[in-house]
Parts: sequence; C-alpha cells; structure tokens
Amino acid sequence: MEQIFLDWARQIHKEHPVVDAHFDLAAEVYERRLAGERNVVEKRYLPCFRQAGLNVLVSSIYVSDRDLPEQGLRRALGQIAALHEDLEPVKDQICVVTSKKGLEQALWEKKIAVLLSLEGLDPLGSDLMLLRIFYDLGVRGAGLTWSRRNAFATGCCKAGEFREIPGGITELGREAVRQMEALGMWVDVSHLNLDGFKDLCACAEKPFIASHSNAWEIHPNYRNLKDDQIEAVAARGGVIGVNACTLLAGPDLEQLCRHAEYLAARAGENCVGIGLDLCRGLYETTPRIHFETENDDLLAHHGEMEQFTAMLLACGMREEAIIGLLGENFLRFFRQVLPET
Ligand SMILES: [Zn+2]
Repeated sequence: MEQIFLDWARQIHKEHPVVDAHFDLAAEVYERRLAGERNVVEKRYLPCFRQAGLNVLVSSIYVSDRDLPEQGLRRALGQIAALHEDLEPVKDQICVVTSKKGLEQALWEKKIAVLLSLEGLDPLGSDLMLLRIFYDLGVRGAGLTWSRRNAFATGCCKAGEFREIPGGITELGREAVRQMEALGMWVDVSHLNLDGFKDLCACAEKPFIASHSNAWEIHPNYRNLKDDQIEAVAARGGVIGVNACTLLAGPDLEQLCRHAEYLAARAGENCVGIGLDLCRGLYETTPRIHFETENDDLLAHHGEMEQFTAMLLACGMREEAIIGLLGENFLRFFRQVLPET
C-alpha cells in the first residue's frame, strides 16, 4: 500500500465519524470477566479504537447454542452487566448511549458511544413482554434470530453447516417487529433467512439494517445478501455494513473492497457502512464457536481499519462515498431511529 493512501486514510479517520455497526464486545467482556480478567475494554480495545478514530460501536449481545434455551436470558443479562462494569473506570472515554441526546453528547465530548443490540431475540424465549425490559436496559436494536430457528423467525442457515433452512417470521416475530418499531429499536436482518427477509419487507414500516452482511454476488454464502435484498434494504432507507470475516468476505482485503464497491453500486453510496464482526477475541474465550465455523478476521483489530480505507482510496472509490461508508451513513440511521432522550 502506497504511503500517500495511508496518509489520506488517516486524515479521513481523524476528521470524519467512524462507526462499527457490529462487534461481539459484550459477549467477550462477559467471558473474560468471568475468568477473572478486569478492565478488558481499556486494556485490549481502547488503544485500537483510538487508533481507528472510532466514534460509535454497536456491541451485540450474543448467546451461543451452548447456553440455549435455559441460560439464554441469564447470559444476555450477564453480558449487559459485565459491559457496564467493565466500562465504569473508563466512562470518560467510552460509554453506553441509549438516546439521540446521549449519542450527540458522546460525539461532542469525543467519547466512543456504545449502542447495544441483541443478536437474536433468543434470550426472550417466547416471552415478548421481556422486550421492554431489554429496552429499559438500553438495548436499541435486535435481529429476530441468529443463524438458527427460534420463536420469532428462522435463521439464514443451520449454524456451522451453511445450508438454507426454510421458514419465515412467525406471528410472534411479526408482533416483535411491531413492538420494536413502536419502542424505537431498529431491526437487523443479518442472519435472517430468505423467507424471513420477505416477511419482514411485508410487515416492517420503518427502515431496517443489515449490520454485518456482504454481497452474495461477490461471495456466495447464506449470510450474504442477494441483489433484491440489497435493493430492498436501500429502498427503505436502511444501511448495510460490510463484514470483514473471511467466511463472508473472501480471502483478502481486496475482496472486502469489492463487496463495498458492489454494495455502493447496488444500494447507493448512502446505504453502505461497516459492521466488521471481528471475532478473534470472542473465539479466544469460547474456542468451540470457532471450531464450528472455521472463520478468521481480515483485520487483526480496529486499528487496521485505516488500511481498508486506504485500499478503498487506492481502488478509486470517491472520498465522499468512503466518508459515508466509514460512519456518516450509520450515524444518520441511528440519529433517525434512537429516541430523543
Ligand atoms: Zn453475526
């Protein structure tokens, strides 16, 4: 990579918002704190976040098959608690936000704003009334399901096997969408299957996102979006975050650039963002998940985001498009969806 592009990328990261719309931070912090580690975010992540000029991070709350169904609720609550505890000593630098006002204040004070999102409604079991509890705990987004079937919807594939499983959104899932939209939570379609995607298009009244999914045409995988899905997310004012896992992107950063270019061409420059889905940290704490998926990250940590930006510049993507992709587009979406206060 030529130095001129790296310098240019660094400048963009310094001057414009940087958003990662998907990172399993809460799950990892929970596992590490359970093992006795403390100040996980401060020691392991803050320097890399700062290097990337990161402004907003969506932390997913992810419960693995191992803990479902009985331990799902406990794990999800534990992850939220663990993240709050871990961020307490560094709250002047990074904090959970739950409203537009909180987001603006964090941006103004140059703190990293963390938004919480459930990666699947599994912790609710089939008790939709618990949705409000998670909202009250600060959760502002959710996918109906991870790559599995639950009471609300069916995932895009059988986890670890990558074969499509049939079944769309259930009646309870439709009611969940209604309630999420009424509460002020965004719906995330990453991990939803084809039938479910169609069902959501029929019942959703507000824009929805695909926080960490790439383009099927560039790399066929059930987790990636087909052209009509890309267009449907964009037509409703949603945003698609490019995913830096080899499983979904392909073998190298050039391939990730191709996904970004393809999505920008199909969805429009205003509808593409970043949801890196960096997994190495979580895999370290729960090796079994890694064993099931055989996956790796194209970026070792957030500090390497500049290399991706530099590569997009070298590929000839317009600077305005890169600024949108890097953060402006997701930021616009969150400002639109989050409650005022
Ligand atoms: Zn995911």
